[in-house]
Amino acid sequence: MQSLPVRRLELPTPYAVGPVNVYLIEAEPVTLIDCGVNTPEAQNALLLGLNAAGYFPQSIERILITHGHPDHYGLVHIIQELSGATVFFPEKEIARVRDQQMVFEVGRLLVEAGMPLDLLFKMDQARKKDRTRPGLDHDRVVPVKDGDSFPFRWYGDNDTAEEFSLETHLMPGHTGGHVVYIDPETRTMFAGDQLLPDTSPNPLLEPSLDEPGERRRSLKEYIASLESMSEMGLELVYPGHGDPVSTPGALIERTLEHHRKRKKRVAEALEDDAKTPYELAGEMYPRVKGYDIFLAVSEVVAHLDLVVEDGDAAVEGKDGVTYYRRAAGS
Ligand SMILES: [Zn+2]
Repeated sequence: MQSLPVRRLELPTPYAVGPVNVYLIEAEPVTLIDCGVNTPEAQNALLLGLNAAGYFPQSIERILITHGHPDHYGLVHIIQELSGATVFFPEKEIARVRDQQMVFEVGRLLVEAGMPLDLLFKMDQARKKDRTRPGLDHDRVVPVKDGDSFPFRWYGDNDTAEEFSLETHLMPGHTGGHVVYIDPETRTMFAGDQLLPDTSPNPLLEPSLDEPGERRRSLKEYIASLESMSEMGLELVYPGHGDPVSTPGALIERTLEHHRKRKKRVAEALEDDAKTPYELAGEMYPRVKGYDIFLAVSEVVAHLDLVVEDGDAAVEGKDGVTYYRRAAGS
């Protein structure tokens, strides 16, 4: 079996995560998976990368997005404008990126997690100043659902015509509507941020996409996604950041183990006196600043869900803030 005609383009981002991968599928229709962040540097790198591979922006016919984070779809409106490509965006992520309500909802969840209002206000000011804010023409994107399939045709070695299809799998976790694209023949997966070789994706604090007013159980969803991924017998993973992974099974197990250890650490940080997730995050990650505080609180809340489920933590609400304490007898 031949490997797929995939070319990796590494694009810079201004974020701590480092460069992001865009994948060019050199087949008909010419397709990009993810798009990079909306900065002139990333745009240049993408156009140069296409050029080096012998393509013009106009060559791009189709763009598949894995999830609604700015490093993965920020440039999409520009590439769409240049190319006229059809943009496929995960159905459940469209509302999430369109809806300003979402920002308020996340703010509410942070207050519930014990974050002081003045800090929340500062974070929001920084968010508004961010120049990398992505653009998306909501009227010109096609929603992608679990099970949707994208056929390709190409000419392989000896000029023989080859075909394959990428199937969409909804894999919530890192975000609530994250999808991955899998070729079942070669067991190749384009993972977005659902499986990363060098870091574990943050299970973000987010409102539920299905139940208004509720919080998504990000890490529980993520672990369930990892478990279903591990049953697929994947051979090759193209992640959103970092090098291709030729031993996906081992990476999935390593990621699960990371969360088991982290859960233990969070459980050990609990005491008989109740603490907010914000306080716990401050103890566990004393040096983080700015947006990273949001990530740290997300991390703690997500693992607390598991600790509570194990019966090792007790939860209580007071004045709209949630407190956790060590469960009696644990
Ligand atoms: Zn992401």
